[in-house]
Amino acid sequence: MARLVMKFGGTSVANVERIRNVARHVKREADAGNQVAVVVSAMAGKTNELVAWCKEAAPVYDSAEYDAVVASGELITAGLLAIVLEDMGLPARSWQGWQIPLITDEAHGSARIEDIDGTKIVESFKRGEIAVVAGFQGIHADTGRVTTLGRGGSDTSAVALAAALHADRCDIYTDVDGVYTTDPRVVPKARRLDRVSFEEMLEMASLGAKVLQVRSVEVAMVHNVKTYVRSSFDDPAEPKQGTLICDEEDIVEKQVVTGIAFSRDEAQITLRKVADQPGVAAAIFVPLAEANINVDMIIQVVSDDAATTDITFTVPGAEYDRAKALLESRRATIGYTALQGAPDVVKISAIGIGMRSHSGVASRAFKALAEKGINIRAITTSEIKFSMLIDEAYTELAVRTLHSLYGLDAKG
Ligand code: ADP
Ligand code: ASP
Ligand code: MG
Repeated sequence: MARLVMKFGGTSVANVERIRNVARHVKREADAGNQVAVVVSAMAGKTNELVAWCKEAAPVYDSAEYDAVVASGELITAGLLAIVLEDMGLPARSWQGWQIPLITDEAHGSARIEDIDGTKIVESFKRGEIAVVAGFQGIHADTGRVTTLGRGGSDTSAVALAAALHADRCDIYTDVDGVYTTDPRVVPKARRLDRVSFEEMLEMASLGAKVLQVRSVEVAMVHNVKTYVRSSFDDPAEPKQGTLICDEEDIVEKQVVTGIAFSRDEAQITLRKVADQPGVAAAIFVPLAEANINVDMIIQVVSDDAATTDITFTVPGAEYDRAKALLESRRATIGYTALQGAPDVVKISAIGIGMRSHSGVASRAFKALAEKGINIRAITTSEIKFSMLIDEAYTELAVRTLHSLYGLDAKG
């Protein structure tokens, strides 16, 4: 007998019929004699609707109340799945975050899990029940308020629960049958990977592949949770394995580049003619950091007059207006002649552990994009990835070009 955590995302529970299909997957595992905890997301589109209602209610709102609202989507699907399972003759109980409890810090809207007490779930297993857990949510112990884990957070609920329960496996069921070399909805030639290393998955997720929330990969890596990404749309009677996220050592065929990720959620800001002297970078980036605006790529151009320089950097698209307003309010202190912004840029990244031992990997990409007439606005590199900032209009062309360049296209 094994202990499993099965997680189903929004499209997999989009309506009652799909919830019934999810129940068939759960029944298969329960009938095989496994102890099963199921983590569910809200129905597809529900969380977006709830977020929009908060914004409609007031332009500025309390983040604890935002959490009270947006956590509700998962309560519905957890209850419905328990009802459907019971109807199929499988004893089941739903669990809201606070009932477990799943304890988080107080960072409403993007809380981190601090502790999960698995005792009640294990007791429920002993009673022969399937535990259906509402994903995405927890509770802050001191205030007793409901928290949420950030968008896509049900993945993290599932992996963290698997770690807390010492589960043998965590299966993340979604609307694609595994992790691909790039988003299969953008590149039809994308190839499904049988295995991908924790490190590469971490980079892919943080560079835009939303198939797993970044934190879920961190938790899987730290606690060594055996995690698969697989499809809920496969026939429940003939399950397929999907993609295993695993240690680098467990990957036999190592590629130089394993995947291409992209993020449209980027904006570029350039400050023209700032003084080329100590303290200027601090004058720009310290206030941004204090305002919790995450700066990613930074380029400082060597000046030709030795007195002034241009500084270009990127911020998340959602923070663009706030960053601009902040820098405009500090124009006198920073001392620049003009602020130029480009909210319509995209960051394209290539990821692969093989880059550690191969040189010249990125330069091939620069050449290939140049041949397609795509201008690269900024570049960053690190051990197992490099990223380029380009105009959003070229996203698909650039992703496809790199996908072919590194031999990732599916055959046929
Ligand atoms: P869920 O609602 O099940 O959590 P998500 O929409 O969050 O599902 O994540 C699944 C989606 O991630 C897929 O539909 C796919 O378009 C997208 N995706 C992006 N990059 C990749 C990739 N490299 N491999 C697989 N899917 C990817
Ligand atoms: N429902 C939440 C969201 O849409 C959490 C999740 O689906 O993982 O972000
Ligand atoms: Mg998701």
